[in-house]
Amino acid sequence: MSHEQATKKQLDAAAKTALEPIIAKKKAGQALTAKERMAIPAQAMPAQDAVARGKNVSEVAEGYSEAQALLEAERCLGCKNQPCVDGCPVRVPIPRFIAEIQKGDFKAAVDAIKETNLLPAVCGRVCPQEKQCQLTCTVGKGLKSIEKAVAIGRLERFVADWERENGKITPPAVKKPTGKKVAVIGSGPAGLTVAADVAREGHSVTIFEAFHKPGGVMVYGIPEFRLPKAIVQTEVDTLTKMGVKIDTNYLVGRTRTVKQLIDEDKFDAAFVGVGAGLPKFMGIPGENLVGVFSANEYLTRSNLMKAYDATRAATPIFRSKIVTVIGGGNVAMDAARMALRLGAEKVHVIYRRTLDEMPARAEEVAHAMEEGIIFDFLRNPNKILGDDKGRVIGMEVQKFQLGDPDESGRRSPVAIPGSEYVFDCDTVIVALGNESNPLLVKTTEGLVVDKKGRIVVNTDQKTSLDAVYAGGDIVLGAATVILAMGEGRRAAAAINELLK
Ligand code: FAD
Ligand code: SF4
Repeated sequence: MSHEQATKKQLDAAAKTALEPIIAKKKAGQALTAKERMAIPAQAMPAQDAVARGKNVSEVAEGYSEAQALLEAERCLGCKNQPCVDGCPVRVPIPRFIAEIQKGDFKAAVDAIKETNLLPAVCGRVCPQEKQCQLTCTVGKGLKSIEKAVAIGRLERFVADWERENGKITPPAVKKPTGKKVAVIGSGPAGLTVAADVAREGHSVTIFEAFHKPGGVMVYGIPEFRLPKAIVQTEVDTLTKMGVKIDTNYLVGRTRTVKQLIDEDKFDAAFVGVGAGLPKFMGIPGENLVGVFSANEYLTRSNLMKAYDATRAATPIFRSKIVTVIGGGNVAMDAARMALRLGAEKVHVIYRRTLDEMPARAEEVAHAMEEGIIFDFLRNPNKILGDDKGRVIGMEVQKFQLGDPDESGRRSPVAIPGSEYVFDCDTVIVALGNESNPLLVKTTEGLVVDKKGRIVVNTDQKTSLDAVYAGGDIVLGAATVILAMGEGRRAAAAINELLK
C-alpha cells in the first residue's frame, strides 16, 4: 500500500513511531540538525476512499492527526530569511506558527496565524499553497520536489481545526463604541475580513448580503466536500459575537443603493466586496439548450440549495448520465466532482491545454483523477448538439496542439484542422471563469470601473467615491480567497484611519 493510500489510522501510527526518537532527542536537550529535519518523511494527507467519496459530499481530505502535525512541523528549518513568508500574500508568520506547533502550543500557533489571516480553517483548505508559500519553501527546494515542501497549509488547517473542535475560539476584543457606522456590501472573504477589522475598532458594522446565507463563494461555490459549510458558519458566528449585524436577502442596487446607504441611512463609510459572480459563456451554437449550465448555477443549486440532498432540497437539479465540464480551473474541478456525487455515470473535463497548464489547485486535480473524472486535454467544443425537444445530446469537439507561449506565459492552444469529432453527453457545464457582478456598479453613479467592469481603486482600496472602498474579486477579477482577504485588510485599515 502506498503512503497516499494509507488510512488515517495507519498514517497516525507511522507518525507516532517516527516521533519517538525526535521527542527523546528534544527531552535530552538536543536540537535536530537540518539534515535530520530534511530526512523526516513528508506527511501525506489522509483522505476518504476514492470510490466511497464519489457517492457522498463529506469532506475528502480528513486532516492531520496530532502526531502527523507534530512530525510535519519538525520538517521546518525555521529559515531566518523566511522565503515562505515572502510567498504568502498576507505574510502569515509561517516559521513562528510552525515553531509553536513544534512546542505543542497549538493555540499560540493559530493566534500567530490570525495576526494576518482571519480565516485559517478556510485558507488551510483552499489556498493554492503550491503556488505560494510552499513554492518558495527551502525544504521543497532542497529536496527538489514541491510535494516535499513543508505542508504549511495542512498545518494551518490542523491548528485552526484544533481551536474550533476544542472550543478555544475567542472573538477578538472590540474597542468601546465610536458611534460610527460602516456598511459592508457582500459577505465573501473580502467583506468578512473588513467587517472583523473595522468592528474591532469599535465601529458599528452592518453586512448587506444578496443571498439568504453569508459567506460568498465559500458557501455557494466551493463544495461541502472541499470546505464544510459549518466552518464558514463558525467564522460568521464569530463576527456576530463581535456585534456585527448581517442583513441577508439584501441586494444593494435594488433594496437600497450605495448612495442611499451613505446619504440617507447615514453610514460613514462603505466597503464593496460583491465578487465576480457573472458567468462567462463561449458564444457557441447550442449554449441555450436544456442541459447546459454555467458552473455557477450548477454549484449554487448543489451547495447553497443543497441539491445533493434529494429528499430535502428546495431546488431540484438535472439528473445526468454523461456530463461534460468545459474549463481547467478550480470551478471546473468542483463542478465535475459535484456532478459525480449527484449520480452521473461519466464525467468528462474538456480543457484546451494540457495538465501542466491547468490553473486548478494540484490537489483538486489529483483528487478528481482518483475519483474517476475523465480528462480530455487539448480539446475545445465547437458546438453543443440538441434533439428536437431542445435537449443536449452531444457535442462537436475540436482537437488542439500546443503552440508558442501567450502573454500569460502558458503555451497557447492551436486548433488541428480536420480533427473535429462528435461525442454523446446529456449535460454541459461551462466553467470558463467569471466576470464582475454588474448591478451595483451600474446603480452607483460616479463609481469608476475599468473596461472589464472591475472597480478601480487606489493603494488604500478607495474607489472614485468619497468614503467608498472596494476589494476582492470585484476589483481583482476572479482571484482567490487569500487575495480577497488581503484587499479586505487594506481597505479596513484605510476605513479605520478615515473614521479616526
Ligand atoms: P465573493 O466570495 O464572491 O462574495 C461576494 C458576495 O457578495 C456574495 O455573497 C454575493 O452574493 C454578494 N453580492 C453580490 N452582489 C451583491 C449586491 N449587489 N448586494 C449585496 N450582496 C451582493 N479561491 C481559492 O483561493 N481557492 C479555491 O480553491 C477556490 N475555489 C473556487 C471554486 C469556485 C467554484 C469558485 C466560484 C471560486 C473559487 N475560488 C477559490 C475563488 C474565491 O472563492 C474568490 O476569489 C473569493 O471568494 C472572492 O471573494 P470576494 O469576497 O471578493 O467575493
Ligand atoms: Fe520552514 Fe519552509 Fe518556511 Fe523555511 S521556507 S521557515 S523550512 S516553512
